[in-house]
Amino acid sequence: MKKVLWQELRRSEFEKAVEADAIIIIPVGSTEQHGNHLPLNTDTNCCFTIAQRAAQSIDEFPILVLAPVWAGYSPHHMAYPGTITLKYHTFVDLLTQVAASVHAHGFKKILFLNAHGGNSAIVAAMRTKLAAEEGTNAVSYNYWDMPSVHEKMKAVCQSDKGFIGHAAEIETSLQLYLQPELVDMGAAVWVPGLWGDPSTATPDKGETIFNAAVNALVKLLREYHSGKLEDRLKWRKEIL
Ligand SMILES: [Zn+2]
Repeated sequence: MKKVLWQELRRSEFEKAVEADAIIIIPVGSTEQHGNHLPLNTDTNCCFTIAQRAAQSIDEFPILVLAPVWAGYSPHHMAYPGTITLKYHTFVDLLTQVAASVHAHGFKKILFLNAHGGNSAIVAAMRTKLAAEEGTNAVSYNYWDMPSVHEKMKAVCQSDKGFIGHAAEIETSLQLYLQPELVDMGAAVWVPGLWGDPSTATPDKGETIFNAAVNALVKLLREYHSGKLEDRLKWRKEIL
């Protein structure tokens, strides 16, 4: 299996990756409570595994996946045990400096893949911030927001309580598929701090959602590399 993890490369291998115009994925997760039935690394695990699988699926150009950002913006989960949160500006600075470091080594395309709702607005704003303040090209997606993923989720999910929710049907299904040994379905009931109903989750639903997210990401990565995605982001050139 080819290497897709940034931290596994040697110095000389980076030069080849820069020459081939590699895309760098920065998975952005969290360490936060996900009820009594899911592990704290749920978000980090989701974006990291989706990114790795998509990177493995593309042979035409290299994709490198950075170690996931494991702490995000989660002040609203601090009432529950286990949550780690960064302060707003710390989180913004962390994302900025990781992306700017990637850019400094010659990489021209960065994709943030976010997995935590509390990070969404901040990660989305990084695109403009990095372009305007660092001269760095980046795009960002929530894994549940990528084209066609929403429709696939709606098609397989029974729960009507919100969309992705928190520690609900979608995240629980993904975790049952990705790391079932860390899920306690006996405790998969609504408790304060959850949004939605986890009881209808299954590993099959998780597999369908995971594959939909991987396929959507593969498509976006190909569009980004070919320049098609860039064409839709002309607004950035207008503001610079
Ligand atoms: Zn989550």
